[in-house]
Amino acid sequence: MKADHLKNASVETKLIHTDRELNATSAVAPPIFQTATFRGDSAQDFADRASRPRHPEFYTRYGNPTLSQVESVLASLEGSESALVTGSGMAAVSATVLAIVSQGDHVVAQKNHYGGTLNLLNSFLPRFGVDVTQVDQTDTAAFEKAVRPNTKLILIETPSNPLMTLTDIAAVAKLAGSRGITTLIDNTFATPINQRPLDFGIDLSFHSATKYFGGHSDLIAGAVMGSSESIIKIWNAHVILGAALGPFDAWLMLRGLRTLSLRVRQHNENAMALAEFLKSHKAVKVVHYPGLKSHPQHELARKQMSGFGGMLTFEVNGGYEAADRFLSRIRLASRAASLGGIETLAVHPASNFLHYMTLEQAAKIGIAPGLLRISVGLEGKEDLIADFDQALG
Ligand SMILES: *Cc1c(COP(=O)(O)O)cnc(C)c1O
Repeated sequence: MKADHLKNASVETKLIHTDRELNATSAVAPPIFQTATFRGDSAQDFADRASRPRHPEFYTRYGNPTLSQVESVLASLEGSESALVTGSGMAAVSATVLAIVSQGDHVVAQKNHYGGTLNLLNSFLPRFGVDVTQVDQTDTAAFEKAVRPNTKLILIETPSNPLMTLTDIAAVAKLAGSRGITTLIDNTFATPINQRPLDFGIDLSFHSATKYFGGHSDLIAGAVMGSSESIIKIWNAHVILGAALGPFDAWLMLRGLRTLSLRVRQHNENAMALAEFLKSHKAVKVVHYPGLKSHPQHELARKQMSGFGGMLTFEVNGGYEAADRFLSRIRLASRAASLGGIETLAVHPASNFLHYMTLEQAAKIGIAPGLLRISVGLEGKEDLIADFDQALG
């Protein structure tokens, strides 16, 4: 499907040109096929559309030309055979996990995952007779020890909330591969610009496209990339679960992806500058950013990431009150959930978690009362530094 002249092209070129031959019109911008359904010309034609998996012109929950266009770009970006877009990041991980595991199976996952993923692992899978073991992601041997004869899936996420902790991608891929266990990574924080897990032997990569892929905080979407065979299996589950992406949202994702590489490189640069500034500030206790030499897994970060991303956390001296004071003073960062958009966002994890755990319980999982998570945006980095400086007082 991929045009030959793009085979060795840069990621920037691929993001702009990969889907061009899927656009059957002469419009330079991709058309939006804002339709729920498609006409068959004859009984035979209709039967063909209905029975061929992932036919792009049958019914939009099953597929749609606008969705196919963005999927072709996503596959070339992640270096996979195939991709599937979904109505959210949670739709991507739910369909993927439910396509892989059955009653009686076992999953190895990390202690640290995105909150929704933790709910899937802890509240949903046990109800369907699937056991989950969660391990310390920094301890590769722990993954190996947790594996059982009925382990079907190893799920990782790196870097992960809340402390930008890393998992050794190659090591996990190796121990899973030798046992025939499927591996799935949440690659949302890094993006394929900074981290290409399939090159390290991971089978499937999923993303909250709500974040860096969309890039403008105006879209909820997800994606999963892998071999054609596995993506068909996931598509079968996805069509039943029903969290399809609408054509307009697929178009927004495609529009966002065109500038992904440019944006991520600037996110990397801004986050590095801000991390270094914060590290030297006397009001700051500690900064967690994989690009800093002081990050306990900096060497691993250099091995498996080509950029260190736009996410960082730091802890202010003075605990809960100091963190809250910082958020009320900061002008270039909004207090908002989500990440990966053009604008800087800040979250105070301790207040996020307060409705279902005490500060003491939060501290046990690494969430200090003075911890702040920043999605570093694309503002001028000198302006960000000046604003953080005044907010730290
Ligand atoms: C946001 C997020 C998700 C969930 O994605 P939605 O698009 O909100 O469903 C999963 N993983 C990570 C790391 C996220 O940041």
